[in-house]
Amino acid sequence: MKLRLSIALILIVVVPLALLGWLGIRVAQNEREVIGHRFRALLVDRLIDIDGDIAAVLGGWERQLLAETQLTGLETRELRLRAMKSPIVRQYFVLDTKGNLTYPLSTAPLNETEKRFVVRTQDIWMNKEIPSQAVQEEVVQQVQSTKVPIKGGKGGTPQVVTKQAARPTAQRKGWHVWYWDNGLNLIFWWRESSGNIVGAEVSDVRLMADIVGALPETIEQDQYQSRMSQRTPPSQASRIKLLDSNSNLVYQWGLYEATEDEQPQAALALSQPLGSWKLQYYASEDSVYGGYGKGMLFNLLSGLGAVAVAMVVLAIYFYRESSRDMREATQRISFVNKVSHELKTPLTSIRMYAEMLAGQIDEENPKAKRHLSIIVSESQRLSRLIGNVLTFSRKQRSALKIHKSKGIIDEALREVLERSETGLASNGIQIEFHPGAGKALEFDRDILEQVMCNLLSNVEKYATSADLITVTSTQTQDTVTITFSDNGPGIPASEHKKIFDAFYRVSDKVNDGVAGTGIGLTIARELALLHGGDLVLQPREKGASFKFTLQVGKESNQ
Ligand code: ADP
Repeated sequence: MKLRLSIALILIVVVPLALLGWLGIRVAQNEREVIGHRFRALLVDRLIDIDGDIAAVLGGWERQLLAETQLTGLETRELRLRAMKSPIVRQYFVLDTKGNLTYPLSTAPLNETEKRFVVRTQDIWMNKEIPSQAVQEEVVQQVQSTKVPIKGGKGGTPQVVTKQAARPTAQRKGWHVWYWDNGLNLIFWWRESSGNIVGAEVSDVRLMADIVGALPETIEQDQYQSRMSQRTPPSQASRIKLLDSNSNLVYQWGLYEATEDEQPQAALALSQPLGSWKLQYYASEDSVYGGYGKGMLFNLLSGLGAVAVAMVVLAIYFYRESSRDMREATQRISFVNKVSHELKTPLTSIRMYAEMLAGQIDEENPKAKRHLSIIVSESQRLSRLIGNVLTFSRKQRSALKIHKSKGIIDEALREVLERSETGLASNGIQIEFHPGAGKALEFDRDILEQVMCNLLSNVEKYATSADLITVTSTQTQDTVTITFSDNGPGIPASEHKKIFDAFYRVSDKVNDGVAGTGIGLTIARELALLHGGDLVLQPREKGASFKFTLQVGKESNQ
């Protein structure tokens, strides 16, 4: 019991604490994730802004190039001169309407720059990667002839419509990107009114310089140190890196020093034509979660600690209270047990001498005989009550034992019934006995007597209106069944199960005022169970009927 109580108390403390801890950690983790998501979304917004700044540089270049006067028809000398003067152009080129390169032509005399350009770009012209007017028209025609079946036409036949949305308009300008010698090369082309495509390969060095110029300045190491200590708390420091298509660092700025294997908090690919480049945002965990993790852990732990202390105090309090109650209950039981034992011996003597005296008094003194019979029956009642109390206390201590001996059930039954006969007869109740268990067998005589006495005494107490008790015994190979019925008021169906509960007493006008403890049937059933049988109440139209079974076969030999 003590062990069970300790386990229960530990569970009462540990289980809710573990549950609370788990819930707290889950909630905190979710919160942390939400904060992380929000913060990363902000970082991505910042990267989108930076991408916009870079796109603005390229947009400025587009405008500069488009402002060029007509290039078609210009002489080679003029084109060379313009390229030389322009800070952003490396080499101009001109395509005819069919997409063939007309300047710089490899067959014409070329200077070194032009020669290198022709080598670098030969694949572009060969594969016609930059769209000419002729190619564009071809594409438009192909798309126009594509018919797309869609569902829902009348009569179930698919309706055929032209895929209008896919029809492209002839592209007028664009960027072309290609890689040469491990580097990114950019061409901007546009269509002139003549239909020719002209364009320029732009200077990558200048482009890089312009992009870097548009981005915030990189801070030198010494400035970095002083700013770190003066203005920016380390938790708010960040670093943004611009990486090229080979993931080489192009440019970086910001006060945060990322470790080598650190993952960025956010990343973004640049818009076209620099789609293979990316921006990465590095920041410390602290700046992402604002120290949430540490604070949360401290709050959680201190909260759990407080709950744990409160629960342990409560558990100790309840443990002490319950052990005190248990101690007191054990003391009470042992006191009642001792008193009952003390009472048993003198009571047996009183009963024995009263019975002896009744035998000695002659018939002429009926008054004295009646008085003696009252002493005998009352002392029998008292012994029965003491017997019940002792059995109940043994049951509480799990000390109930069965002691079988050889005998005949019907004989034992007859003896018990005869003993109660006089008392019952004085209340106008007769006993009818139908014996059917006459074979000798092993059983516990005391158990049989105690159960029967309890049933008989209940009739005396609760079935005063009855005039007949019928007792029937039957015997099979290993079971004896005794039915015990009276024709009194009976027991309401709703009480059938409860009457076997300890200390339960039916409360109605028949029972109220009748003395009792509510343990008679509890003990009777417990004893029947101990004997391998049972005691149950059977449904009956009038009165109460109990079925008492006992195992008398091999199984019951304990
Ligand atoms: P107690 O020890 O107080 O007599 P029991 O456990 O023997 O209690 O009985 C429980 C309840 O069952 C009683 O309060 C009574 O109402 C009901 N009872 C038992 N036997 C009979 C009976 N033969 N007729 C009517 N009621 C009965």
